[in-house]
Amino acid sequence: MPGHRFELIGGDPVLDFVNTVHDWTAAKPRDYVPTFSDALRFGEAVGVLTPAEARRLSALPPGTELRRLRELRTRLERVLRAVQAGRSPTADDLEQLADDAADGARAARLRAEKGHLKRVIDADAAGVAALRLRLVDGMIALLTSERLSRVSRCPSCGWFFVDATKNRSRRWCSMAMCGSAVKARNYYWRTKKRREKKIAR
Ligand SMILES: [Zn+2]
Repeated sequence: MPGHRFELIGGDPVLDFVNTVHDWTAAKPRDYVPTFSDALRFGEAVGVLTPAEARRLSALPPGTELRRLRELRTRLERVLRAVQAGRSPTADDLEQLADDAADGARAARLRAEKGHLKRVIDADAAGVAALRLRLVDGMIALLTSERLSRVSRCPSCGWFFVDATKNRSRRWCSMAMCGSAVKARNYYWRTKKRREKKIAR
C-alpha cells in the first residue's frame, strides 16, 4: 500500500520532521508517521537515511523507537515554539536534547571524503535509533546557527519552515495548503460583510 506522500516544505529535514503532524493547532492532529516503517519512509524521503540504511533499519525490531521519535517531535515543537515567542526553551527539554546528542556522539564516525573529514552518525552503530539521533544532530545544528532567525511558522497550521526569501516575506507553509485556504476564507468574510451591509441598508 503506498503511504502518505510527505510535504517537504520546511527547508530543513528537522522542520519537515516536526511537520509530520498536521496540524499543530487542531484538536485532533493527524500523525503522518503512525508506524516505525512510516518514520523510516520519512527519513528516506527527507534524505536523513539512504534507501539502503532505511532497508537495513526496517529489518531490526523497532522496540520503543517510534514512541521516542514522537516524544522527540513534541519536544522539538515545544523548543521551536519557545524560540518563536522569544522565550528560552525549558531546561528539561535542553537537557534531554543534550542527552540524545551524547548518544549520537557515541555512534558518530569520522570518514575521509575527497580530502575532507565528514562526521556521520553511523547507522549500524546507532541501530534503530539512527533516524532519531540524526534528527537531534540536525536540530542542534539549526538551533546554534544563524538560520534559526529565519525559521518561521505558518499562522494557519503551525508548520515550521526556513524563510529563504530576501525580505523575509514568506508567510504560509505553502500557498496551495494554507495560503489560498486563508485567502478564500478572508474573501468569504469580506463578501459576507458586504452582503450584510447591503441588507442592512
Ligand atoms: Zn500552513
